[in-house]
Amino acid sequence: MKTPKPESSTENWKKSNATGRRKGAAAQKAGASRRRRTSLTAYSEAEIREIFRRFSIVRPEPKGELEHVNPFTLVVAVALSAQATDVGVNRATRDLFKVADTPQKMLDLGEERLIGYIRTIGLYRNKAKNVIALSEKLIRDYGGEVPRTREELMTLPGVGRKTANVVMSMAFGIPTMAVDTHVFRLGNRLKLAPGKTPDEVEDKLMRIIPEDYLFHAHHWLILHGRYCCKARRPECEHCVIADICKFEGKTADVPVPLPGPQPG
Ligand code: SF4
Repeated sequence: MKTPKPESSTENWKKSNATGRRKGAAAQKAGASRRRRTSLTAYSEAEIREIFRRFSIVRPEPKGELEHVNPFTLVVAVALSAQATDVGVNRATRDLFKVADTPQKMLDLGEERLIGYIRTIGLYRNKAKNVIALSEKLIRDYGGEVPRTREELMTLPGVGRKTANVVMSMAFGIPTMAVDTHVFRLGNRLKLAPGKTPDEVEDKLMRIIPEDYLFHAHHWLILHGRYCCKARRPECEHCVIADICKFEGKTADVPVPLPGPQPG
């Protein structure tokens, strides 16, 4: 005679099966979210937080290095900086902004005299045309003021997404991620936010960087790329995140000590 299974054991099985299914669903969900995260970055949330915590100790108040005196001169400086160094742009704009720090004064100066100031900067003819055209547009469409939204900024001649992001962040304090050559390299080299295009890297960085670090993150990445994780030869032996970095070619895995007393 078949011994019936005690009811309690069937009930237990049902319960444990249901629990198993719930656990399975939870595990699947966690797996899917892990896969989603893996496609965004090679780092855990804790690692990313630690990277930016260290950057924030090294440079508590990071600043862009392009000199400007108001939002208009910032737009001009960023537009001039394409394929040029900030140092080279500053050298040219120091005198230019003394005579032309508003759209109207730029128009009064005129294209030929503007060229006289910026001819040491690459692609200066084209850039001069754009600066005059964007000054005209600012006066015609925006009452001589620099607009605050990305969409409006990108209607200005010579202003692309990267320039618009820099202006929004530096002139108006809106957190953005302008992906220049340094940010693009770091996003890919470190597998922090790998992407084939600057837009892809920008999108991933905006999603993985903790909100409280987002405002300065753009400058921290640029400055880390410019002075430490350089294009030709990264200086891993001087790097504060050498232990966390996931670049296979890194040449050190012990971070340099952080400056000053650290918050507990
Ligand atoms: S360890 Fe080297 S490759 Fe990694 S972030 Fe630092 S400098 Fe760059």
